Amino acid sequence: MQAEPVLLTGLIEACRATIAANSDHLCALDRAIGDGDHGTNMRRGCDAVSAEETQVSSMALPDALEQIGVTLVMSIGGAAGPLYGTLLMEMGRELRKPERNLDFSAALKQAIDAVARRGRSRVGDKTLLDVLYPVQDALANHSSFADIVHRAEFSASNTAAMRARRGRASYLGERSIGHVDPGASSCALLTMAICRYLEEHRPA
Ligand code: ADP
Ligand code: MG
Repeated sequence: MQAEPVLLTGLIEACRATIAANSDHLCALDRAIGDGDHGTNMRRGCDAVSAEETQVSSMALPDALEQIGVTLVMSIGGAAGPLYGTLLMEMGRELRKPERNLDFSAALKQAIDAVARRGRSRVGDKTLLDVLYPVQDALANHSSFADIVHRAEFSASNTAAMRARRGRASYLGERSIGHVDPGASSCALLTMAICRYLEEHRPA
């Protein structure tokens, strides 16, 4: 199973461009309930992946995803680095299992569970998990790309009503309520970038 080089390169670029365009917004969200660096962290991660896009595009898809995960851990830093990194590394490991038979939604479920274990977090804690699980659910239900994007954006905005129980925002307690979680927002933006790209480049 070879990662389709053009597709993977395009997806990497779509993610990089979206994060670059929204970096200030992500930092502003993080300033409200964290330390203001989420946009900068994510941008650094995307730039690092872009720098090796030729190399990863020549790999088999599971290897490429795992390599991207390693790069994200090393480059994003903070709390989000190990979490986004785990997501990609576990996706790669799951897709490598022959019994997965390229079932992206099942692989994604396992990968998100690994992120939850890593962060000792769960749905409702006001984190990126509050977008990842709904996106996986939409994917498992064969929703359209447009519906997956809508679900991601809706889920990210719903984090405003939540009280943070994990990460820096949890130090604020009740005062974290009323603000969208930065990690949930970056997750929705990346979901949008990926879905839009795949919609435009789906095989005829
Ligand atoms: P840091 O908090 O170290 O500055 P970032 O600002 O880059 O790292 O990322 C913050 C985001 O990481 C949060 O908005 C949240 O979505 C996510 N996050 C933080 N801690 C956890 C955790 N324990 N489990 C899941 N997600 C978390
Ligand atoms: Mg931060």
